[in-house]
This record gives sequence, structure tokens and C-alpha cells, in this order.
Amino acid sequence: MARERLYLFDTTLRDGAQTNGVDFTLHDKLAIAKMLDDLGIDYVEGGYPGANLTDTELFAQERKLAATFTAFGMTRRPGRSTSNDPGLAALIEAKADAICFVAKSWDYHVRVALETSLEENLASIRDSVRAAVGKGREVLLDCEHFFDGYKANPQFALACATAAYEEGARWIVLCDTNGGALPHEIEAIVGAVVKVIPGTHVGIHAHNDTEQAVANSLAAARAGARQIQGTLNGLGERCGNANLVSIIPTLKLKPEFADRFDIGVSDAQLKTLAHASHTLDEMLNRAPNRHAPYVGESAFATKAGIHASAIMKEPATYEHVPPDAVGNRRKLLVSDQAGKSNVIAELDRIGIKVDKDDARVARLLDVVKEREAIGYAYEAADASFELLARRVLDKVPNYFDVEKFDVSVEQRDNAVGRRITVSLAVVKVKVDGETLISAAEGNGPVNALDLALRKDLGKYQSYISGLTLTDYRVRILDGGTEAVTRVLIESQDEAGERWTTVGVSPNIIDASFQALMDSIVYKLVKSGAPA
Ligand SMILES: [Zn+2]
Repeated sequence: MARERLYLFDTTLRDGAQTNGVDFTLHDKLAIAKMLDDLGIDYVEGGYPGANLTDTELFAQERKLAATFTAFGMTRRPGRSTSNDPGLAALIEAKADAICFVAKSWDYHVRVALETSLEENLASIRDSVRAAVGKGREVLLDCEHFFDGYKANPQFALACATAAYEEGARWIVLCDTNGGALPHEIEAIVGAVVKVIPGTHVGIHAHNDTEQAVANSLAAARAGARQIQGTLNGLGERCGNANLVSIIPTLKLKPEFADRFDIGVSDAQLKTLAHASHTLDEMLNRAPNRHAPYVGESAFATKAGIHASAIMKEPATYEHVPPDAVGNRRKLLVSDQAGKSNVIAELDRIGIKVDKDDARVARLLDVVKEREAIGYAYEAADASFELLARRVLDKVPNYFDVEKFDVSVEQRDNAVGRRITVSLAVVKVKVDGETLISAAEGNGPVNALDLALRKDLGKYQSYISGLTLTDYRVRILDGGTEAVTRVLIESQDEAGERWTTVGVSPNIIDASFQALMDSIVYKLVKSGAPA
């Protein structure tokens, strides 16, 4: 039997951005969009163009994504025409592949919140969809509070959905906006809707207020919906949205879904899922949830004892899916066998071939474990891992030595009597027997140090001239007086390639220095600079 296509729609950048304490920058949004695209997500919802500066800039960018990049916004306001609604005009003109309108579908909300008539609400849906379809856009309609609306007045809720469908909307998305619906209700209501609108045009958008957003999404797919909306790590306001990080592997690995549906995520892309989930946490400066299904550190961890020896012999005895299918790993606390094969896999990925019985692999694993115990995060810092591996395997030239550096921070009055804080860094490096001294001012001590370090590296200068820092993140580990600082630096070169390095120290300047050094040395290694 041919499998049906099931589409995935990510709203991390729109609904996920509503999470308490989450504030995406433009840089974050572009990086997340790229990550979702690499994962094989069909639709990436970017945000509300025109509603805030970040989203307006995001939609003005050149993005080069395979995913359908989607703009979100309201249908035309009641009592206005589409040509006389600046919000709608901005949405339709946005540089987006698709437009997702949100409209009320619960009669109670139309009367109380919108203070308009049911007929005007339907007219607003029809007019808005028609205007966007007329501009050649793919159109989606989010039917807000659809399930509550359907329970209260099924004819009206369905009328909202069919109004958009008849005007040419590609997808009618049924939203459980307050997250209170249960799987059996979702299955029954979606089942009724797909009798009127083909399931190939119906989507589900579930919130997690009864912790069933994933279950509700799967129930909707079982009942006929062919688009699932959600966010990475279940980000979203209140209790979050449906977690795509749990939904994707369930669709890929559980036969009931895998035998029926194809999704845009390949087996190879599925293996990057854990990494994507952890990368998002790093960007949000959050510790990943150890107990997250599929991707958490503990998801495939087994304590020593009879379970562990059984797992060694036959993993399927205790694991519902193979951990490497989602890019996670088995953790057996009796043996470092699993860690070793993981390190070998990682070395293989970066192009270093080494025999599994080579004593240096065991040494590398020990060094990684020691350093992770004091705060280094190699999963987040691919370039630092590669350098560490090459160093342990004895393959990194000593390009230059930093003999000393000095960073000062001064607060004083400037020429016009304004109080300013300036940072100055002086770096003394030795390249090829020659001592070079560079000084630079920066808007902060790390910035000054970075500028001074990269100002003059003698014969290596040409290799690093295209290097820029694109992100700098600091996390305080442990807390209290024993606190250490972890710095993650993301760099980019002239070809647009990005990499991340890490430094750890009780001193933030020192931690930053380590990460900066790794970034420069990594670039030299990558460029094949002569020793
Ligand atoms: Zn929502």
C-alpha cells in the first residue's frame, strides 16, 4: 500500500516565541529556521511581519530555505474592506511563500471578543483568503479554538473552515488553542471535519495544557488530518505546543505511523534530531531536559546490573527504539563501550579514521569525560571537539603562542563630559620566532581581546581575515561562590561556514579567551595553514 504524505509545520519562531523568558533575536530566528530546514520540516512559520521589528527584518531577508517559509497574521478586521486594512496589506506583501491567517471559529468568541456578527466573521475569512490566493500565495487558515467552537456550535465552526477551503486555502488548521481537548475528542471531531473537507487539506495545532498535545496530534493524524503543527522541544506559551521532537520519531519509528505515512524527515535527518533539540536549548541558554523522550540524556540510560548486561547482548530487550536512530546514545554505566563507539562515530563524521582498539581513542574519551565534568560542552561546540580530538591524536600544529595578554576596563569622562566605559586589550603573540604586539579598544573586554588577538598574526593573518564572531553566549554553572563560567562562541568565515567553540573557567575573560583561541586555531586547521 502506498504511503500517504503527512506534512510537518513548525511554529517555534511564532508560537514558540510566546514562551515566557524566550526572546529570539534576528540571528536566532535565522539560525533556527536553517536548523528546521536541515531537519526536513515542510513549513517554517517565521512570525508576524509588520508586528515587530525582528519579524519585519526577518521577512525582508534572503533566506534560501527549502521549507515553505510562512508569515502569520490576522484576517481583515471586521467592518473593513481588504483594501483598507494596512495590517492585512503588510502580511500579503511580505516576502513569504505562504500566509497563515488566524480567525475565530467559536461563535462565543466572535460575539464577545470580536463584537461582530457570525456572518461578518465568515466574510472576513472569505475576503482575506481570496485576497492572498489572488496574490499567488499558498494560504493556511488557523481556526482558533476550533474544538471548543465545534462543541458549542458545530455548524458555525465548520462554516469557518469551509469558507476558507472554498476560497482556495491549501490548509485548514484546527487549533486546540487553550489546550484542553482530549485525544478521543480530537479523533471524533477531526473525523467529522474530514467528511466535509478532505483530510489532505486539514491540519492540527495542539497546545499542551493537559499534556496531550503530542497524543492529540497523533489522534488527529489517525482521524485523517495530514498536517501536524508543533514546535521544537514543545516550546510555547503556558504549557507549550505539541513537541515535534517527540512527534517526528514516533511518526518515523512506530510501525502504525511509519507504514502509513511519509514525512519530509529522512532517516539521516532523524539522526540529527537530538542535536537540533540540544542546540535550541543552548541558544536559549537552558539546560536540556535530561528526561526528554527520545532525545534526553537519560532516555536510553540504564543503571548497572542485569539490565545492562542484557542490553549489551540484545538492545531490543529494553529499548523501544534504537537510540542512534534519533542521534541519541545508549548509556551503560558499567562500561565505556558505548561512549567509545560514540567518539569513533564522531571522529568518522569529521573525517578522522581511527581503529576502535587504538589506545588513543580510550584516552580521548577520558579527556572528554574529564572536561565535560568541569563544564565543557562538546556536543554544543563541534569545533572545540574536533581540535581536542586532533590534539589527543597528535595532529594540530602549534601555529603561534600567546605569550601574554592584558585586558583593562576603564570608566571615565570623555571629551564632552559624558561618563563612558572603555575596554583595552594588549596581546603579545609569538609567530615563527617573531614577537608581535597588538592593542585594540572594544565595547567590552571580550570584544577588545578578540580584536587585539586577530589584529596581527603575521603570516597567518590572511587565513583569518574573513573570520567574524556571530554569537557569544555565557552560562554560569553550579552557582554560588564555586561558580564557573562557560562561554560558547559561534564564528563564521568568508564562505559562510559556521562553527562553535567553548571555554570554561572561573574567570569569564579566560573562558572567552579559550573559546576565541579555539576558533582561530580551528580556522587555521580548516584552511590547511602551514605549521
Ligand atoms: Zn497556538
